Amino acid sequence: MTEMLFRTDAYARDCRAKVLSAGPEGVVLDRTVFYAQGGGQPGDTGWLRWTEGEGAQEMPVANAVKGENGTVLHKPAEGAPLPAPGAEVTAALDWERRHRLMRMHTSLHLLCSLIPGAGVTGGQIGAERSRLDFDLAEPPTKEWLSERLAALAAADHPVGEQWITEAELDENPGLVRTLSVKPPRGAGQVRLVRIGPDPAPVDLQPCGGTHVRRTGEIGTITVTKLENKGKQNRRVYLVLEE
Ligand SMILES: [Zn+2]
Repeated sequence: MTEMLFRTDAYARDCRAKVLSAGPEGVVLDRTVFYAQGGGQPGDTGWLRWTEGEGAQEMPVANAVKGENGTVLHKPAEGAPLPAPGAEVTAALDWERRHRLMRMHTSLHLLCSLIPGAGVTGGQIGAERSRLDFDLAEPPTKEWLSERLAALAAADHPVGEQWITEAELDENPGLVRTLSVKPPRGAGQVRLVRIGPDPAPVDLQPCGGTHVRRTGEIGTITVTKLENKGKQNRRVYLVLEE
């Protein structure tokens, strides 16, 4: 198994780790800061760095995906050198990209809160542009959504997490907004991401992704387009400035 440090600290940019296995399909470490692609959020990119003899070696990580038995596979860029099993490496994120993904991901939670009651049927998070699909007949305008998003970001709401049991989640199916992505489960517990104060959160839903600590960190986010994708399906596009 790979200890997934991003689950407890989304702001960890690098870590020391030991190589458990390495091949063209990917490098498995005993611990990592790399988020493995899933739940609409892309896998992280970055570098594995180590010394071999006298020389410094570097493997660019093109993507991180889920491997077998709770591992994360760090996919090497084409032609990159691989560290040997047992080697000690530093795993370092392309932090600028990851932080944008965190800002985007948190924005999508805010967007969800503005369209209550509508199921989310799909979505994709990108560093420049993201989208969410809602099961919704009459969407609000992009201007209305952009204004409300700006207000929620400016309110600088805290972003936190809490855990509930799978049984509690099953008793509150309304907590699950995403119809296409099953919330992360394990050991009978489900992680909920909460934005805003505990008694009256702006958004509360199961999620295994990485988020910023406060909505003020999101910056300027704009809804640029709404598209009809079928009778009930409305696709909303978000763009992050800077
Ligand atoms: Zn999330």
